[in-house]
Amino acid sequence: MENRSFYNEILTEHNVRPEFKHDMEDADIVLEGVNPSCGDDIFLKLKTDGDTIVDGAFVGDGCAISQASADIMLGMVIGRKKEEALEMGKIFMKMIKGEASEEEIDSLEEASALRDIAHMPARVKCAVLGWRTLKEALLGEDADDDEDDEDW
Ligand code: ZN
Repeated sequence: MENRSFYNEILTEHNVRPEFKHDMEDADIVLEGVNPSCGDDIFLKLKTDGDTIVDGAFVGDGCAISQASADIMLGMVIGRKKEEALEMGKIFMKMIKGEASEEEIDSLEEASALRDIAHMPARVKCAVLGWRTLKEALLGEDADDDEDDEDW
């Protein structure tokens, strides 16, 4: 795939110079997301105002894919309505499962750099950790935390 090195550059850039990996003292939602199969462990921090995600950050440790994915995700969802963020998460999950259309993948902006994960089953949980944690943070008790949840 000719774009492979371009995608790798995006992921590397988000690892070396993450924009949102820092503490956030006044977050009103803080949630830990763990992927035991790889050892990824993040704390997602969100500041919300009604239905809008006004700011966000994360701290923690993990592999390059989990950290880059969380950083890219925050860049996409900050400033959006919660339901728009959840919709993006749904499309992201579709892409990771190899079920998204080219148009849907394009709509994911930088997160489309993770499209190849569809061919790397062992890394799927790394790529979706940030998004899963976001969904749980936004929906709270209503989020289905079933690992095999087909909806995501
Ligand atoms: Zn990982």
